[in-house]
Amino acid sequence: MAANILVPQSVRTMESPVTPEEWMDDGACLNKDPDQWFPDTREEIAEAKEFCKTHCKVRFKCLAFAMLKEKPYISESGKQVSNLRFGVFGGLDSKERKALQEEIDKKAEAEKEMTA
Ligand code: SF4
Repeated sequence: MAANILVPQSVRTMESPVTPEEWMDDGACLNKDPDQWFPDTREEIAEAKEFCKTHCKVRFKCLAFAMLKEKPYISESGKQVSNLRFGVFGGLDSKERKALQEEIDKKAEAEKEMTA
């Protein structure tokens, strides 16, 4: 049961509810204090990232999930909604996930131009 899994803070702000996924049951943070993944200091951020990288077997699923949920989306009323991006997920902090997403978008755009 995935009820206690940490979910990205951005997910909590979305209009649609989060559907628990099976991999969440295997998250190494499952029974930890969620505040640990929303750290304030550099040291705390480093600790959370290290924990994900060294203890969690679903790290990449968590990272993909967080990045997907952090993408802007179109609401039912047709407005583009930008989700907030913070906390540590999949071993990356919010700045690292933003940079990774920008890199992915850039590569996708370049591939699109090459095939056009
Ligand atoms: S990667 Fe980190 S935040 Fe994600 S489920 Fe694992 S321990 Fe939790």
